[in-house]
Amino acid sequence: MTVLVIIEHDRGNVPEAAFEALTAARQFGLPVEAAVTGEGAADAAASLGAYGAETIHHATADAVGDYSPEAWGQALAGVVEATSPSIVLSVGTDRGNELMAQIAARMDLPFVANCVEVSDDASSMTRSQWGGALHEETTLDADTKLLSFAPHAVEATESAAVGTVVDVAVDVDESLARTMIKDRVVLSEGITLSTAPVVVSGGRAVGSEEAFAPLEELAGELGGKVGCSRAVTNNGWRPHSDQVGQTGTRIAPTIYIASGISGATQHWVGAMGSKNILAINTDPEANMVVKAGWAVLGDLHEVIPAITEEVRKRKG
Ligand SMILES: Cc1cc2nc3c(=O)[nH]c(=O)nc-3n(C[C@H](O)[C@H](O)[C@H](O)COP(=O)(O)OP(=O)(O)OC[C@H]3O[C@@H](n4cnc5c(N)ncnc54)[C@H](O)[C@@H]3O)c2cc1C
Repeated sequence: MTVLVIIEHDRGNVPEAAFEALTAARQFGLPVEAAVTGEGAADAAASLGAYGAETIHHATADAVGDYSPEAWGQALAGVVEATSPSIVLSVGTDRGNELMAQIAARMDLPFVANCVEVSDDASSMTRSQWGGALHEETTLDADTKLLSFAPHAVEATESAAVGTVVDVAVDVDESLARTMIKDRVVLSEGITLSTAPVVVSGGRAVGSEEAFAPLEELAGELGGKVGCSRAVTNNGWRPHSDQVGQTGTRIAPTIYIASGISGATQHWVGAMGSKNILAINTDPEANMVVKAGWAVLGDLHEVIPAITEEVRKRKG
């Protein structure tokens, strides 16, 4: 009996989500194995032992190259068939869930997505629905149990294993590569909202595009990124790529500073993975103030520059 972790990567670059999946796999007390395929898979495989993958199955086929959900799904289903694990899992990113769904459909197996807690034998779980607003108790009855963990449900931690890579030749028909990447557009360089250690967000109360400058300054001092609420993107003050929430980015920084944001459910589900939350708001009863670990009751236009000044003073 083994747990097989489906590894998503982009031309060999492995996202934190894959390490979360390997960490989550260790909770079952079974040998942890991993499956990779596609362009750059050998590079991706090299980083997996450090997170507990004892054996890494590299699915090879001529028709498998850059990411293609159908071709990768077929190749990874080939590894599941060849290794007969009792549990197969990923993290429920767009790509993680897409690959799991491809495997499930090809093998006619049930798949439970976005779990936040899973029993020791993976026969029952709690999963996150409707952007985190609903937790659903689910049971899973199958010889091979397919599931994904919600992003940030588990924190990635290292656990050195030898990480032996084994090539597995799989059958993938060229006609399967129907969805392919033709071009990539880089929207932001360096750290992104989802990986930033600090996010300084502004809501409707910021008031304008220009008024985000003090938030940019504070984020710069703290080595973080600026985020915002949907009221802000609706007003055209910031791009959608900066939006935190159900229809934006889910973040998990060490520090989240939410200024002038009421903390509507749709915003909260994107922010609740943050390790520490500081709310800055004039309303002591705002949802964000009530839920945050720390709050400053005051006008963000005064509080944000005051924090920046204090940070600069302490940095000398
Ligand atoms: C299907 C759907 C999906 C959605 N997805 C998202 C999403 O992904 N992300 C998201 O953010 N929203 C989302 N929303 C919108 C969400 O419901 C809220 O409308 C939105 O988050 C409100 O933004 P806000 O907190 O900036 O504004 P408001 O709710 O207007 O809050 C402004 C806050 O600023 C405070 N304030 C006022 N003046 C000051 C001041 N000078 N200093 C400090 N505080 C001050 C007020 O007390 C208030 O708490 C979604 C809605 C729907 C229906």
